[in-house]
Amino acid sequence: MTDQDLYVGLIRLHVLHHSAQEPIFGLGIIEELRHHGYEISAGTLYPMLHGLEKKGYLISQQERSGRRGRRIYAITPHGRQALAAAKIKVKELFGELFQDEPALPGPTSHCQTVA
Ligand SMILES: [Zn+2]
Repeated sequence: MTDQDLYVGLIRLHVLHHSAQEPIFGLGIIEELRHHGYEISAGTLYPMLHGLEKKGYLISQQERSGRRGRRIYAITPHGRQALAAAKIKVKELFGELFQDEPALPGPTSHCQTVA
């Protein structure tokens, strides 16, 4: 996917957002991202999770489930701070991206019918 560079930051924020709600694991987050239209491979996601952990945003631990273990990731206080700061920036960007557009009817539109 050639546009992936553009979305990497969004995917990272997505991962942080979900890890702030509950501990996440690789395959689960791949599934979740797929629902949002991001096709991300394990080969891309795992280094990303690892990088977020290295930066101190996430902390991981090996969990035993059945015969195979999986690594679960939880957000750290530092990660929560970073997420909170990023949300403010996203909100600002969001405002700019959409300020000149007329309210588009669409599945995500919460506008009342303007009739
Ligand atoms: Zn999501």
